[in-house]
Amino acid sequence: MEILPVKLCAQGSISLAGPPASTGEATLTDLAVDLACMYRLCDEWGYNEGDSSNFTIAVKTDDGSMLFFLIKHGVQWQDVTVRDIILVNAAGDVVHDWGCGSNEACPSSAHFDVIGFHIRRAIHERLGSVVLHTHMPTATTMSVMRTENGGLVFPIHQASCRFHDNVVYDEKFSGLACGPEEGYAEGNRVADVLTGGGATSRVRAVFLRNHGPMIVGRNVWEALDDLYYLHRACLFQAEALKTAGGDMSRLAPLKDDIALATSRQSDHVRSLKGWKHISSHRTRLLKAIPSIADVC
Ligand SMILES: [Zn+2]
Repeated sequence: MEILPVKLCAQGSISLAGPPASTGEATLTDLAVDLACMYRLCDEWGYNEGDSSNFTIAVKTDDGSMLFFLIKHGVQWQDVTVRDIILVNAAGDVVHDWGCGSNEACPSSAHFDVIGFHIRRAIHERLGSVVLHTHMPTATTMSVMRTENGGLVFPIHQASCRFHDNVVYDEKFSGLACGPEEGYAEGNRVADVLTGGGATSRVRAVFLRNHGPMIVGRNVWEALDDLYYLHRACLFQAEALKTAGGDMSRLAPLKDDIALATSRQSDHVRSLKGWKHISSHRTRLLKAIPSIADVC
């Protein structure tokens, strides 16, 4: 199967293969390598749980339809390579498999988390190119706490301020989705939470109460950098609460205007700092383990 270059969004590439201001083109394989690296990094950082398939990158094709990069089922995050990545259309049909070899027909039998895909597909279609959902311990711990006992991100550190007005909380966990249609409906419900019922959202993170966090981003580096700093914000808060014996009154929250100004400052430099942070990890990984990017 021929792998075509992807037309870039107006802001430039969404892939780590090109710098943020680039007007060049990223290939589909560049993005597949990005996804493999994201799983490896999140394993290094301790964000994984089982072999859950939780990260998706979406691109628009010339005809306006969307394609989605996913990991196959049954791959440990520390072992992911580009050969474990597939590209599927909105119906969930596999249109490319980087593990099948360049001269072979792509198999339609590659297994992936179908319900999780349709949840994230609904969010991609309305909000962003990159959706990251993990059960990473720090943020998931916060998601299972009552609001009044620490279940919100408090502005107690610059990492926390980054999310001061960029996070929402979904209080309606209602069990697991049981099929593609139910998953798609759940994804639209979460998108409604992120947008507040509007068409767009500047909110980039949602805590699914009794479940875990989700990040929605414009590109790979901003989304993964957000996930990293959400973890740090939750870690500092959890450690502070532990030190305080769970006494919320012993935390030292910043004033709202300071927290908001710090959030705006963070927004201003987020893309470039995120690029430098995440692309340096990608470079390190591929230098240490070049086979991550080896296509059959
Ligand atoms: Zn989950």
